Amino acid sequence: MDSNKKVYDVCIVGGGFSGLVLAIKLARAGLLVCIAELNRMVGRRILSTGNGRCNFTNSRMGNEYYYSETELSFIEDRHGDLIDFLRELGILEREFDGYFYPITNQAKTVRDALENEINALGIEVLLDNRVTDISKGEIFTVTTHRTEILAKKVCVASGGLSAATLGSSKFGYKMASKFNMKVTKLAPALVGLVSKDISLKELAGVRALGKVSYNSASCEGEIQFNKDGISGYPVMCISRFIGFDELDKKLSDISIDFIYFMDEEELKQELIKRFKHNENATILAALNGLSNEKVIQTVVSYARIYADTLVSKLDNEDIDNLVYYFKHFSVEITGTKGFDNSQVTAGGVALSGINLNTMESNECPGLFFTGEVLDVDGICGGYNLTWAYFSATKAAEAIIQEV
Ligand SMILES: Cc1cc2nc3c(=O)[nH]c(=O)nc-3n(C[C@H](O)[C@H](O)[C@H](O)COP(=O)(O)OP(=O)(O)OC[C@H]3O[C@@H](n4cnc5c(N)ncnc54)[C@H](O)[C@@H]3O)c2cc1C
Repeated sequence: MDSNKKVYDVCIVGGGFSGLVLAIKLARAGLLVCIAELNRMVGRRILSTGNGRCNFTNSRMGNEYYYSETELSFIEDRHGDLIDFLRELGILEREFDGYFYPITNQAKTVRDALENEINALGIEVLLDNRVTDISKGEIFTVTTHRTEILAKKVCVASGGLSAATLGSSKFGYKMASKFNMKVTKLAPALVGLVSKDISLKELAGVRALGKVSYNSASCEGEIQFNKDGISGYPVMCISRFIGFDELDKKLSDISIDFIYFMDEEELKQELIKRFKHNENATILAALNGLSNEKVIQTVVSYARIYADTLVSKLDNEDIDNLVYYFKHFSVEITGTKGFDNSQVTAGGVALSGINLNTMESNECPGLFFTGEVLDVDGICGGYNLTWAYFSATKAAEAIIQEV
């Protein structure tokens, strides 16, 4: 094994979004920084973000968009800083309804800009170096499968367990345990759900608006039905709760409200109005336009009404049944599509073991944690990259102040 005798001010484990931001901020302040990355390129995960477009932040910020076992009031709104940081790297942004993307619509431009800055600052990057251990004596020794790196401080920015093909490992959790820090339960989040529900035979291929609820969590948006499960924004946003319940083997059904923009009474009146105007029409014709056509067909069959039934033949019980199934359509799920299909890992290194002003371990001074490896996960919409940026910035500010 080669031994690199140089002593770095900071060694960063993981060249993902968080590690790259931290490295740039530290190197700009004159610190000698090195990144050890298991992939053969830095920022590989960034390429897949936002369906290849990189939704890097959101104008709606606040700790209500994040989850953790710990209270999150320390999270500041740094989305403006992140936009400025990327502008300095040449990335112009485009905003769509509060969601920010690079104007190129290409995640690659964000990754390339970070890499260009890393190179311009002369930051040493050890690619294809899987870090296997960190030990602390007078200084830190970071051991990779190829070499040993000596550093005064170390930051673990090794991410979570999601999308293993893009580079993920349990390393951060192992190190937290090694240094007597707690790791919370881990579950896949921002992930589609698996279901064998009979309704998917009818609904597979449908994209329909709805509000998806799971116990007390709910979210509205476009739901995508597939033959083996459901996905889409509202499903992804509540999936973390299903991920944890799957671990605990206490899954419940999800409930979909296809007419979430009306309460039950308003929907009932809407149906009565439609049926009065269309007495000689079939029920499907009278309901046309209320929701996706296949959703209407499925709800009608769940309400035990034949599709060719004339409106004049419907009674009050039929109307109540229609209201019920439009607003409480239950889908049995068998779990999530797992870490490999998830965008983020819920849970992680417990914040109770971290100084939240500095991101430094309370147990092991000089050891920092940033990004997804920590017990913070955001909903869809640029929140996870913003967290990676925010936590890296906090660590950078603290480290720069100390030296
Ligand atoms: C398909 C997909 C789409 C997404 N879209 C968005 C989006 O649009 N907006 C958004 O905000 N978030 C999105 N996310 C989430 C976001 O990408 C992550 O939350 C964010 O990249 C986390 O940054 P990080 O630096 O903490 O971790 P990562 O980006 O995972 O970086 C960690 C790095 O550490 C390396 N590493 C791991 N273990 C070791 C080891 N032992 N030794 C050396 N290196 C190691 C990894 O190879 C990786 O490069 C998406 C995620 C996925 C998978």
